[in-house]
Amino acid sequence: MQQHADQYIGGGWRPSLGGGALEVRNPATEEVIATVAAGTAADVDAAVAAARAAARDWGLTSREERLAPLTRLRDGLAARQQEIAETIVAEQGSPIGFATGVQAALPLLVASSYVELLAGYEFQEKIGNSTVYAEPAGVVAAITPWNYPLHQVVAKVLPALAAGCTVVLKPAEDTPLVARLFAELVDQAGFPAGVFNLVTGVGSEVGAALAAHPGVDLVSFTGSTAVGRSIAEHAGRGIKKVALELGGKSANVVLPGADLGRAVNVNAANVFANSGQTCTAWTRLLVHQDQYEEAVAIAAKAAAKYQPGDPSSAETRMGPLVSAKQRERVRGYIRAGVEQGARLVVGGAEAPDGLPTGYYVQPTVLADVTPEMTVAQEEIFGPVLSIIAYRDEDHALEIANGTEYGLAGGVWAADEATAAAFARRMDAGQVDINGGRFNPLAPFGGYKSSGVGRELGRHGLEEFLQTKSIQF
Ligand code: NAD
Repeated sequence: MQQHADQYIGGGWRPSLGGGALEVRNPATEEVIATVAAGTAADVDAAVAAARAAARDWGLTSREERLAPLTRLRDGLAARQQEIAETIVAEQGSPIGFATGVQAALPLLVASSYVELLAGYEFQEKIGNSTVYAEPAGVVAAITPWNYPLHQVVAKVLPALAAGCTVVLKPAEDTPLVARLFAELVDQAGFPAGVFNLVTGVGSEVGAALAAHPGVDLVSFTGSTAVGRSIAEHAGRGIKKVALELGGKSANVVLPGADLGRAVNVNAANVFANSGQTCTAWTRLLVHQDQYEEAVAIAAKAAAKYQPGDPSSAETRMGPLVSAKQRERVRGYIRAGVEQGARLVVGGAEAPDGLPTGYYVQPTVLADVTPEMTVAQEEIFGPVLSIIAYRDEDHALEIANGTEYGLAGGVWAADEATAAAFARRMDAGQVDINGGRFNPLAPFGGYKSSGVGRELGRHGLEEFLQTKSIQF
């Protein structure tokens, strides 16, 4: 078993200043596969001091000086794709196919996009007698969750480094191993000491100390809305910039005339991928009341293709959830849905057949869900699809916009113009029309309680910049 008692601070691996250890479990076997350092506020102090000490010089480097190590980091990600995928299977439970095709491949795509964006980005412009400079925001605290454990790291750290910021990363407790692998790649890429630092540990201790640290200029956080709220409160007191990527309860709206079969099948793939642990997942399927039973039957058939199983097998399409805590939370929501009157079409709160061990949940479809039910309002973060009937377009829009969240959505219609007009009225940061493909250069982020700020592409780079005008 791997035992890591160190943190990556100031350009090297140093013993953690706390003596504690965090266990990392394989969600399919429930066995402890590694331990990492349970960091403390003293580790955070050391990491922030290293990042502060490096900030001025790194912030004044040229684009070319930043491009060289950033390109080597991208190449390192490319060279270790297989190991990245296997690490994520072991600590997070994604099936190997998904881990390879998405969990490892997406960060490489995003890293490549930042190498290209940096190469072409203009950091200054003339406005009348002023030269306006896009300068780095300073020391960044990056706090990430476990569901896309490397993607979320790369989506913060790469643009921050490209912008000329220095970084302290605090990864999720459940998935520190791929974050340590990332730190190794940063180390090998040859960034100056202190430009990137990693502190593993518990959120309420290390995360809270980092977010509130006076030496941090910007907090970029992905995780739950509850923690995001507390981070924003602390940041407000310290006048720090924040970027928050929080929860979602996204609606997929199928308008009359759309290809119902395709819309429902794509919805199933979307909601059962990564065992439903995707913040943008279309967890609410909205269909016209006249097509309701047809949609339910298609969804039931589609769900059957996502029977959970061993994530290390290439055949498996859905693995376990990340932890016992998440499994219990999701099972609790399924029970609450049924208690409140939802019809259990497939799945349920019991362990799937033949899988007594592992944090597995059955792919579950709930019908007769009404907009006020808990399963229609709260983020479940598991493989659970709620199907809701609407009367007409206005009713569909009212339901779609009727939660505290506004992260993502889907619209399906006979023609793109009708779908786009509906999408423009949705309170959501990104909406896919008739199955529109994910675009790694498009801004990603939420409306309402789903967050503030944007990640990915040019918008993601600009989160880490601030503006100075010098008059001549
Ligand atoms: P969480 O908010 O508890 O944890 C996320 C990160 O924050 C972890 O690194 C954790 O250690 C840290 N953290 C916890 N408490 C903290 C505190 N008080 N101060 C600072 N940091 C703290 O989230 P979770 O329950 O582990 O993850 C699941 C949730 O994350 C889901 O509910 C989902 O909504 C959300 N999420 C959102 C997105 C998105 O992009 N919008 C992506 C993934 C997950």
